[in-house]
Amino acid sequence: MLRSVFLAAAGSSRMERLISSAPVSKGIVRRFVAGDGIDDALRASRELADDGLAISLDYLGEDTLTAEQATATRDQYLTLLARLKDAGLTPAAEVSVKLSALGQKVDDRMAYGYAQEICAAAAAAGTTVTLDAEDHTTTDSTLEILAELRKDHPATGAVLQAYLRRTEGDCRELATAGSRVRLCKGAYAEPESVAYQSALDVDKAYVRCLNILMSGAGYPMIATHDPRLIAIAEDRARWFDRSADEFEFQMLYGTRPEEQARLAAAGHTVRVYVPYGDQWYGYLMRRLAERPANVAFLGRALTSK
Ligand code: FAD
Repeated sequence: MLRSVFLAAAGSSRMERLISSAPVSKGIVRRFVAGDGIDDALRASRELADDGLAISLDYLGEDTLTAEQATATRDQYLTLLARLKDAGLTPAAEVSVKLSALGQKVDDRMAYGYAQEICAAAAAAGTTVTLDAEDHTTTDSTLEILAELRKDHPATGAVLQAYLRRTEGDCRELATAGSRVRLCKGAYAEPESVAYQSALDVDKAYVRCLNILMSGAGYPMIATHDPRLIAIAEDRARWFDRSADEFEFQMLYGTRPEEQARLAAAGHTVRVYVPYGDQWYGYLMRRLAERPANVAFLGRALTSK
């Protein structure tokens, strides 16, 4: 119930204006977002890299409606990649890109062209790109663009959302040699016709997808904070005889840092997804939707002076 309220709020521009302008929001945002600019992103990346963690940086923004905004997002990623290389943070740090921020919903050819430029810049910086998954209306277009990008940049990563009924099939398609696939539960409000609705059904689908990816020939990137799914992934790694460099765990910045450290200390690659930028509203609402404790955090911030 609370989840659907926050996911509905994520799409409301009126709520966005209200929450973004509330002074208390800054404190909550700081918990999940590294900061507004590239310097903040680099500082957070340096701290994580010093702790032995890998990084995927996300310049916040989505559902871009103008070519100018899409071009500015492309430029931001090109600058970010050059700065990461200069700072010696590649290959530890890669980037995550939302095609909708590159104008996918306006002109998917433009989004593809910009993504191609970002992939080329990442290759020049010695690192990779992963294409985030967004709402289900974009899945076909995103996977088609991914396939095109992989012709020149085979290490470009995909994201598959276990809550979508189609995803087991997509896992089978993508569990091939050299294919990097991030498996997450899925963060958007989706109708029953395309997505499992109960937490139990989503978790069961996650395990089925995990089995396909861990038994396949690709490189699974297990994106979850769920202790049961992490334990199952460790079990499948033993079962399918995958060594520590043949898969990785991924978690969000500010979420379960002690578990990130534990897995890294156990010899696993752990990549932290680090968002930065001032367009944090939709991202924050999805994080609040995921966890009642996050909502309590918002409540405390709103009621304290
Ligand atoms: P949840 O169902 O949220 O939580 C399960 C259990 O995990 C909880 O019961 C609790 O035991 C534990 N847990 C969770 N959070 C905490 C916490 N803060 N502290 C302590 N315990 C906790 N979604 C997309 O749709 N597209 C994407 O491209 C995408 N990329 C992602 C990238 C990464 C690296 C990650 C980690 C997630 C990404 N997501 C993406 C979000 C994802 O789909 C989920 O919405 C999000 O990860 C929450 O699901 P969960 O698997 O962590 O488990």
